[in-house]
Amino acid sequence: MDKKPIASVARTREILNTYGLRAKKNFGQNFLIDVSVVARAADASHCENAVIEIGPGIGSLTEQLAMRSKHVRSYEVDERLLPVLNEELAGYDNIEIILQDFLACDLEASVQELVQRYEGVSVCANLPYYVTSPILFKLFEGPQEIEYITVMIQKEVADRFSAKPGSPDYGALSAESQYLYEVKKLFTVPRTAFSPAPNVDSAVVQFHRRLGVSADPAFFALVRASFQQRRKTLYNNLKEYTGSPERAERILQEAGIESGVRAQELDVSAFQALYEAYRRTAE
Ligand code: SAM
Repeated sequence: MDKKPIASVARTREILNTYGLRAKKNFGQNFLIDVSVVARAADASHCENAVIEIGPGIGSLTEQLAMRSKHVRSYEVDERLLPVLNEELAGYDNIEIILQDFLACDLEASVQELVQRYEGVSVCANLPYYVTSPILFKLFEGPQEIEYITVMIQKEVADRFSAKPGSPDYGALSAESQYLYEVKKLFTVPRTAFSPAPNVDSAVVQFHRRLGVSADPAFFALVRASFQQRRKTLYNNLKEYTGSPERAERILQEAGIESGVRAQELDVSAFQALYEAYRRTAE
């Protein structure tokens, strides 16, 4: 009889029993046990060439990616999982497990090699919650060849990434990521889809790279300064940041932004105009 998918209650239980494993909290281990969720994320991920996965766990998403991709490269930090992955995914010849903290990997070299060999590369992962932001920022600041990043993250964090201007969730994180990517929340995932079940629900978010923009630290610093005190007007935050009321006024004037506006009302193109005016007024 064919084996059940790894993303199922029965198979996950069997694997954990066979290898005497318990999910490690400090590695953010919550394993997906609902194959429809995993398949849906894999389907949406544009993984047909090569795909990088962060945190394969016992292989639930890895398996679904391997069915759809030419090559799956998965970074896992927990050495206990290596024999499990090798054994349980032995039926696939297109999976490469790298035992390494993703935050320590040479992403540039990894991506260039995959692009050369497989033409394109995307990222798809069910991220450990405790390092969601560092992992995403490593990807955002990484090579532009990664056109699609599809990740399962805590729902509240997903809401902040995908928030529209004017909404309470809209902040520096939203503006920064929406400058680099078209950001879409694809679907929510209830906590019951995981074992052990976390305390929060999750969502799958997709970041689609915009052409011709790169992570510019000075732009990001200006965005963060604009949101420094949410209740203050943009003018007041800029005055603090530049140390000059005159310059703050000129920036707004040149960017065509009214003085009473708050940062949470600006969309990405307004922030771009703000940044251009900020640079011009430095001369
Ligand atoms: N993909 C599996 C699934 O969906 O069932 C497991 C997801 S679990 C939320 C996160 C995984 O990331 C765990 O396997 C954990 O050991 C791994 N992990 C945690 N920190 C990591 C890091 N810095 N680099 C690579 N993997 C990491």
